[in-house]
Amino acid sequence: MVDTEKCKGCEVCVVSCPVGVIALAQEVNSKGYRYAYMRLPDACTGCASCALVCPDSVITVYKVKNAANEKMVKS
Ligand code: SF4
Ligand code: SF4
Repeated sequence: MVDTEKCKGCEVCVVSCPVGVIALAQEVNSKGYRYAYMRLPDACTGCASCALVCPDSVITVYKVKNAANEKMVKS
């Protein structure tokens, strides 16, 4: 999940995702930053690359359903 209020819109996670799941929203959060969201949630492999690269640890990857189906889920 992406904590949209903490996201600074740096796009590091966007380029880190090997399957292009993440994009920046057209809307901004309360701080005026365009925030990251899951553009293609079904394509997420749960690799956690996005969570590792986020400089502010905004993204949390957690398991949905079972270990083989680990996904990042936007709140
Ligand atoms: S956990 Fe999902 S959204 Fe994050 S980099 Fe991996 S595939 Fe992309
Ligand atoms: S890396 Fe973190 S701060 Fe940067 S756009 Fe992604 S979620 Fe937001």
